[in-house]
Amino acid sequence: MNKKVYIGLGSNLGNKSKNIQNALDFIANIEGVSVKKLSSLYLTAPWGKTDQDDFINQVIEIETDLSALSLLYRLQDIEIKLGRQRDVKWGPRIIDLDVLLYGEETIHLEELEVPHPYLLERLFVLIPLAEIDSELEFPDGTKIREVLSRARARLEGNDIIKL
Ligand code: ADP
Ligand code: MG
Repeated sequence: MNKKVYIGLGSNLGNKSKNIQNALDFIANIEGVSVKKLSSLYLTAPWGKTDQDDFINQVIEIETDLSALSLLYRLQDIEIKLGRQRDVKWGPRIIDLDVLLYGEETIHLEELEVPHPYLLERLFVLIPLAEIDSELEFPDGTKIREVLSRARARLEGNDIIKL
């Protein structure tokens, strides 16, 4: 298990905390993945497309020897198993699983951008990330603490409640 990877989980349809738990169980069962840390659950106002129900979000740290793309495909299989339909961009979803960081790597593929393209804009990702690793550094060397305090200043008013 050589890569430290952070995954963002989100749900705003059906039994949200159950969906997150089910996704976690599936992730823990992926061969070549070992779950290391879980953040708290956060209740967060919708982002991007705001006329929809609140989300529950969580971030987890795993170790894996899967490639980033294989991991993405496993996560997409889990999204489908849990009943996710791909329709409205940023619309309601039973489960959303995003690769936030993959070791120190920067990846630009059509299907996979790492660090996740909206990472810096999403307090509901930055806050749980900082909760599980307050010393975390991004591939460009910036520190989670700095990124989070800049994001807080800029995104003031975004609702996020620790459950
Ligand atoms: P979002 O997560 O931005 O709300 P989706 O879950 O619908 O949107 O993802 C749309 C596409 O984003 C997926 O088909 C996937 O190929 C692509 N994608 C690019 N980078 C990532 C990443 N780091 N993690 C997950 N999906 C990603
Ligand atoms: Mg996604």
